[in-house]
Amino acid sequence: MPFVVLMGGPGAGKGTQARQLKETLGLPQIATGDLFRENLQNETELGKLAKRYMDAGELVPDEVTVAMVKERLSRPDCANGALLDGFPRTIAQARALDQLLAEMGERISLVPYIHVDPDVLLRRLAGRWTCRANGHVFHLIFNPPKEPGICDYDGSPLYQRADDSEETQKRRIEVYFEQTAPLLDYYRDRGLLVEIDGEQDIEQVHRDLVAAIQKAS
Ligand code: ADP
Ligand code: AMP
Repeated sequence: MPFVVLMGGPGAGKGTQARQLKETLGLPQIATGDLFRENLQNETELGKLAKRYMDAGELVPDEVTVAMVKERLSRPDCANGALLDGFPRTIAQARALDQLLAEMGERISLVPYIHVDPDVLLRRLAGRWTCRANGHVFHLIFNPPKEPGICDYDGSPLYQRADDSEETQKRRIEVYFEQTAPLLDYYRDRGLLVEIDGEQDIEQVHRDLVAAIQKAS
């Protein structure tokens, strides 16, 4: 089973796709943003530390993020593969991931890059509504819930993430281009990158991802 790293800017659709792929492929999803938000909600020390960075649209320091992923990858459900969503986001994190997987006798199978233009990313983030209980995501226009303000899957209330505010959105996209986009070459040079058109509808992006992952496995 594969270890797949989903790449793309904030709002590209990584979380939306990872949730569907989890079902289709039976792989666990490791979403560092979701893990930080869980810690924040549970008011852990890690959550308190992460909040400062998240609210500013900056990245949580590498050591903290890598330690959290190391712990997650060590659980039994990741023994045969996982979908990484929102990690790695820096070259140092990518190197750390290679090392962690090597220690497990594993390696990355594929890095699908969900490509979406920056102006579309902004529109996606501006209309994103997230469910409190399980982080399911909707969009006011592109992917509306059946009942306004309520999650289709678990009936929990939807909220707008604090870091989806206009000011923070722009910073997150800048941070993506400064710190995360260089990873595209890192993976392209290793022959792992495959580009997916992320501006198609959600179902078509899903089909393209499944085809690419099945081809690589
Ligand atoms: P990411 O995890 O990459 O930050 P999300 O999966 O949270 O992105 O998606 C960002 C927003 O865009 C959400 O509101 C989601 O409903 C919407 N969205 C995701 N994929 C698409 C798509 N293919 N077309 C239109 N809207 C999308
Ligand atoms: P996301 O849910 O992926 O949009 O992430 C939300 C926020 O969590 C980011 O803006 C960062 O502050 C933090 N974060 C998530 N993943 C990482 C990561 N791999 N490295 C550093 N910070 C991260």
